[in-house]
Amino acid sequence: MRAVRYHGPKLPLRLEILPQPEPGPGEILVRVTAAGICHTELHFLSGLLDLGINPLTLGHEVVGRVEKIGPGVTSPRAGDRVIVYYYVGCGRCGHCLTGDENLCGTLQAEYGFVSDGGFAEFVKVPARNAVRLPEGLADEDAAPIGCGVTTAVHAQGLARLAMGDVALVYGVGAVSYGLIQLACHAGAEVIAVSRTPGKLEKAKALGAAHLIDAKEGKVAERVREITGGHGTDVIYELVATKETMAACTQAIAKRGRLVFIGYSEDSYTVHPIQLVITEASVMGSVGNTLGELVKAVDLVASGTVRTVVDRVLPLDRFQEGIDALAKGELIGRVVLRP
Ligand SMILES: [Zn+2]
Ligand SMILES: [Zn+2]
Repeated sequence: MRAVRYHGPKLPLRLEILPQPEPGPGEILVRVTAAGICHTELHFLSGLLDLGINPLTLGHEVVGRVEKIGPGVTSPRAGDRVIVYYYVGCGRCGHCLTGDENLCGTLQAEYGFVSDGGFAEFVKVPARNAVRLPEGLADEDAAPIGCGVTTAVHAQGLARLAMGDVALVYGVGAVSYGLIQLACHAGAEVIAVSRTPGKLEKAKALGAAHLIDAKEGKVAERVREITGGHGTDVIYELVATKETMAACTQAIAKRGRLVFIGYSEDSYTVHPIQLVITEASVMGSVGNTLGELVKAVDLVASGTVRTVVDRVLPLDRFQEGIDALAKGELIGRVVLRP
């Protein structure tokens, strides 16, 4: 089978031929029909995220059809259309037992991170990791649910976003499109910040009440103006450069929650007094749970959340997708069709 392989930081991805995996007991083989390219791929390529495993097939937003089932599998069945949950926890630790597999310290697999993922014709996963997709949801539109929408569902839960809150989404990409729609549905007022006019337009179309062009600077001052001095109750930080983190810290409301989803080479520095006098919380949000994937599929199937796809490319044109993502010119995901 053809697969896009990662060989380590600062090395190009390569399309290679690999043997087709064989599903073992409890496993299924999925014929991949759509796989989204996430910003995380860029972090692997730059070396900012280096889990030390390569060669490796990237891709953690995976949709496909069950090609083959291994011994003992009763569900899903061959031919079912599924989306893959990309964590396989140990199943025994405290985090796994409460469903927080994303926090498991002894992961058995993590597709597209430390285990072969979806930029390939086939991927092998435990049957439990396949969530059935309803009719009426195209494969390429479903792919961005896998990380984009699920990560937004997870972050919103951690942020304890409540009706009437003001939510700032700093940086507009696939996760942000989910965050904006979820926040609007929760009854929050959304402010979106980006340097790209097309992304701000899309944020507005999805419900953002206020837009701030980061190129104009003074983001925190603009937030204070918009909110009548209150600041924002929840801030989703998806860029996390020195400049954006400083703006977020200045924009936070009393008892506000600053949630890091994105990261860069830069470190976060804050004087404790800024947190003391505001009673603000700073937290991180990583990945998502299987339950959140099921919820995210329901949200998209019901039309409550829409995924945003910029373009669909055949697998062998993966580099075009990576380059467009790196340039920041995409309005939504690039989805590969192996
Ligand atoms: Zn991702
Ligand atoms: Zn565990």
